[in-house]
Amino acid sequence: METNLKITIVIVALLTVINSANAQTKPTPSKSSIPIEMLFPQGKSKALILSFDDGQVADKHLVKLMNDYGLVGTFHLNSNKLGTKDYLTKEEVKNLYKGHEVSGHTANHPGLTSLSKIDVIYEVLEDRKELERLMDYPVRGMSYPFGNTNDFVIEAITGLGIEYARTVGDTYNYGMPTDFLKWQPTIHLFGKTNYIPNDTANDRRELGQFYQLTTDFLKANSLALFYVWGHSWEYEGPGNKWAEVEKFFKMISQNPEIYYTTQIGLVDYINAFKNLKFSVDKDLVTNLSAINVFIKINGKVFTVEAGSTKQLN
Ligand SMILES: [Zn+2]
Repeated sequence: METNLKITIVIVALLTVINSANAQTKPTPSKSSIPIEMLFPQGKSKALILSFDDGQVADKHLVKLMNDYGLVGTFHLNSNKLGTKDYLTKEEVKNLYKGHEVSGHTANHPGLTSLSKIDVIYEVLEDRKELERLMDYPVRGMSYPFGNTNDFVIEAITGLGIEYARTVGDTYNYGMPTDFLKWQPTIHLFGKTNYIPNDTANDRRELGQFYQLTTDFLKANSLALFYVWGHSWEYEGPGNKWAEVEKFFKMISQNPEIYYTTQIGLVDYINAFKNLKFSVDKDLVTNLSAINVFIKINGKVFTVEAGSTKQLN
């Protein structure tokens, strides 16, 4: 017994020496505290979302321009307005928005904050249901009419299959959304031009700020999401702005550094990133989604292919 104990102590002591020698020659620092950064698809660091509300006939002109420049958009429609004056018909929408995302904007465009809970639910679900019938795919997001929302509205729409909802509270920055149901865009297309009638000084200031934000986005070095929203009907009429729209599209399109996406496309991508499963020391990662996810660790970029487990070293 005594001999066995001595042998055991010697072996333990030897193993300790060997282990500490290994630790000195082959350091394997834990990666557990190293931040894992999300990049956009193809390892890009810039993303653009173009989002337009209401589904009026001027969307035909807008979509044509977007298609000409290879841009993709998210269009928020009021299903009960379709077929009425100034709006697209129900027959037109499927073909027009091919390749873009159709999303909700409530059935009748009421201010949701003044409705009862059941009316909020009706407006959102009725719109979803009819748009899904027209488009033949699940409609998974919306924008709030007039940008109006509050905790009561968010509680009412929770559980209705709405995965994101956009406000009109411009951030003037390129941050990622912190809450998908309170998603604030970067800026209204052309800023607040024409918000004050016949105020050309204001228009010039707003337009200048808009193009400054566009230029800064194009020069950005860190992860940047430029989210621009608007309405096609704003570019019609006496203050015709179609040439201005085209100028902006020319600036922003065909750029290999930019990930052009619909809003739901970015939601799916962020969710795929958030659902990556890492080993304790972050040497291994599993991507259970159907989307290739790009991550950066210690300055090194990795592609984690859809449905695969990857060694990170
Ligand atoms: Zn609207």
